[in-house]
Amino acid sequence: MAKIPYKIYLSESEMPTQWHNVRAVMKELPDPFINPATGKACTFDDLRPVFCDDLIEQELNTKDLYIDIPGEIMDFYKMYRPSPLVRAYNLERELETPAEIYYKFEGNNTSGSHKLNSAAAQVYYAKKQGLTHLTTETGAGQWGTALAMACAFYGVDLKVYMVKVSAEQKPHRKNVIRTYGGEGIPSPSDTTEIGRKILAENPGTGGSLGCAISEAMETALKTENCRYVLGSVLNHVLLHQTIIGQETYAACKKYDIQPDIIIGCAGGGSNLGGLISPFMEDRILGKTNTQFVAVEPASCPSLTRGRYAFDFGDTGKTTPLMRMYTLGSGFIPSPNHAGGLRYHGMSPILSKLYHDGYMSAVSYEQTKVFDAAIRFARVEGTLPAPESSHAIKAAIDEALRCKETGEEKTILFGLTGTGYFDMTAYAAYLDGAMTDYIPTDEDLEKGFATLPKVDF
Ligand SMILES: *Cc1c(COP(=O)(O)O)cnc(C)c1O
Repeated sequence: MAKIPYKIYLSESEMPTQWHNVRAVMKELPDPFINPATGKACTFDDLRPVFCDDLIEQELNTKDLYIDIPGEIMDFYKMYRPSPLVRAYNLERELETPAEIYYKFEGNNTSGSHKLNSAAAQVYYAKKQGLTHLTTETGAGQWGTALAMACAFYGVDLKVYMVKVSAEQKPHRKNVIRTYGGEGIPSPSDTTEIGRKILAENPGTGGSLGCAISEAMETALKTENCRYVLGSVLNHVLLHQTIIGQETYAACKKYDIQPDIIIGCAGGGSNLGGLISPFMEDRILGKTNTQFVAVEPASCPSLTRGRYAFDFGDTGKTTPLMRMYTLGSGFIPSPNHAGGLRYHGMSPILSKLYHDGYMSAVSYEQTKVFDAAIRFARVEGTLPAPESSHAIKAAIDEALRCKETGEEKTILFGLTGTGYFDMTAYAAYLDGAMTDYIPTDEDLEKGFATLPKVDF
């Protein structure tokens, strides 16, 4: 077999044209969303005030394994896809490992991450339904930027509630959003009732994704012809991100690469869920024994230390209840945490796969993550996003284990984005000023105390 190239690119004609819906092959499905008002499973109509119709259909679809990607979305994807599957020859050499290391790189677009894959789809469907306004939240800023790009392309108006600490750390994120015609509002803000309430109770707060989601939802409900869109966690977002896994799967088939272990960082779980989806099908059907690893920050450890429970998706407790691994919607991560991955919960699909033993999870402190980021950048060239660097850290650790045991494993990880807007965090690390914070069990109890008392 010919040597595997440094970068595997599919040609345009080899690009997958369908998303992959892993729920169609799961032995047991995630629990349905519950409408807190009725205590019953959410129906299509329950969700209509908040999400657009095509996305609700995808959200509730547990039957179709493949869902066609509309041609207009394929046209958008072709501006920046396919993304490369990179063989990390240089990192392998640096680590002196017998393992093969691959990464799927999603940072090759202006927004700098995989988020554009779902932004393109969500704005397309909103436009198709005749909506003129969208609202959203953004944590680290990648989602807001991606959505602004898609809104500019399809001509839709956008308001982005930005988690305040991130907005302050990365002022130029807001300027990129403005460049593409969107409006960025630091959250909590005084533009919504929930924002004013949170500010009154907690004036110094740096905000959280949960608060920003509540604000964006409130504004969507109060604005005509407007919907709220979300960049992670939900089933339809994970579905759109399966373009990552579909391409990776095709590239692996083309070069006969069989990953033994697939690693991804997990905030709300969309990139990891998207990357592993077709590989997980093979595992569920007993065709392979691939291992799947979710990597999360020690400061926001929803899988490794959270509870599998019904919870709200937002601090304002306005969303339907979802059964997922969660720290409680009232959990606010330590403000010294640099990267994204700050969400209190985890995708219900990934939560269920983890709960049923198909996946494992690890967590790392941020200084260890930045050690790995810098080691990677210096030999592979790409400046990784702090979020992505969680996966790099786990991949390096696995490759070093292989070095000890002599195992020639094939390791694949998701490199979700670039870190150009994260230089404040890099500078803190380089100056030796970055600290780690691991919540105590008591801290976590405070979050768990905010879990809704439900009995289904
Ligand atoms: C948003 C983001 C993540 C985490 O989100 P998931 O939904 O867990 O994928 C990871 N990496 C980057 C670069 C991001 O922008």
